[in-house]
Amino acid sequence: MILSKKGLEIKPSPTLEIDTLAKKMKKQGIDIISFGAGEPDFDTPDYIKKAAIEAIQSGFTKYTPASGTLELKQVICNKLKKDNDLEYVPANIVVSNGAKHSLLNAFQAICNPGDEIILFSPYWVSYPEIIKLAGAIPVMVNMDAKNNFKMNVKQIQAQITDKTKAILINSPNNPSGQVYERADLEKIATLAIEHDLFIISDEIYEKFLYEDYTHVSIASLNEKIKNNTILVNGVSKTYAMTGWRIGYTASNTAIAKIMSNIQSHETANPNSIAQKAAEAAISGDQSLIHEMITQFVSRRNYIVERIQSIQYLSCIVPNGAFYLMVNISQLIGKSIDGITILNADVFAKAMLEKVNVAVVPCTGFGVTGYIRLSYAIKLENIKIGLDRIEAFLQKVDDNDIV
Ligand code: PMP
Repeated sequence: MILSKKGLEIKPSPTLEIDTLAKKMKKQGIDIISFGAGEPDFDTPDYIKKAAIEAIQSGFTKYTPASGTLELKQVICNKLKKDNDLEYVPANIVVSNGAKHSLLNAFQAICNPGDEIILFSPYWVSYPEIIKLAGAIPVMVNMDAKNNFKMNVKQIQAQITDKTKAILINSPNNPSGQVYERADLEKIATLAIEHDLFIISDEIYEKFLYEDYTHVSIASLNEKIKNNTILVNGVSKTYAMTGWRIGYTASNTAIAKIMSNIQSHETANPNSIAQKAAEAAISGDQSLIHEMITQFVSRRNYIVERIQSIQYLSCIVPNGAFYLMVNISQLIGKSIDGITILNADVFAKAMLEKVNVAVVPCTGFGVTGYIRLSYAIKLENIKIGLDRIEAFLQKVDDNDIV
């Protein structure tokens, strides 16, 4: 029997695979340190849980409008005004089952077969697959490692063809931790307006910024670019709510209507209880976020310093999100504890098997010679994990070059 060609083309998420494998090994009693997590290790704050319990107890357990409740949309509009200097009304907002779902809706709403979507590598693993699911073609533009994978507008411009439909941006970036500067966003916006392109702006890590970095929403630059932009955000990372599955988009009303229609047949509304929880999260006391960020800063500083002190490893200092890209290219071709490191995938597998440390190879993010470490894990575990990595690398056989 012939199965769907589109379906067969979709690769599983390598980050979720590593995470699942690490969690499985842990259940088997193996003492795993996992740097694979794409989620804050903090618990969802109590005021959010309480709102969900109240929703259940008061019977808020039925269908809601497919694109989310008016109350939640209004709270999102207030947040976009306060945090991002953006004026939207509820008709611009579509609430979905996580930002991943929002992204899928966004591409389904704008793409026709053969449309090209420009994205930059390193990119988040799910983007190419989500774009393909919408029948479009991902066009990857490699950013320069020597420039810390910073966005290069000239390179992007060179890839624009008459098939280009949109440019996908993600700041703060997963996996590089880079934060796009206003000047670069202005250039991207000018390009998009000139060539009549959409911008999909994934801002899911907007609150995770270090030092003096600030988040700029590209839609806030001017009315024209706002009209061309689909802003994607959600509560998963900011409020440690990955399991609740609430994401949202802000876009012009024509696009919002298409997304809402699509969603009404795909999944209907996102979970009613989770919507109440998200409403409480976004409108409630935001001080917990600052506590989270303080912890991320000290973890980031520690992990960067340690990695830079380990022979064979170097890293890009992240300015945002909670990931670190570690350059392992000096190890390629070397033998460690009997294993020849042919690439980052082999290295990641070797670390899991030999020292019970889970990391994600960046192959799925579109770059070779790098692994990604998430520092959304407790500092004591970061320390143990890095000790294990360091001990593993003491077994490098420098003479054994293939
Ligand atoms: N965008 C990026 C860049 C992400 O890293 C993630 C989660 N790993 C998402 C979107 C999806 O978030 P959600 O849990 O809300 O679907």
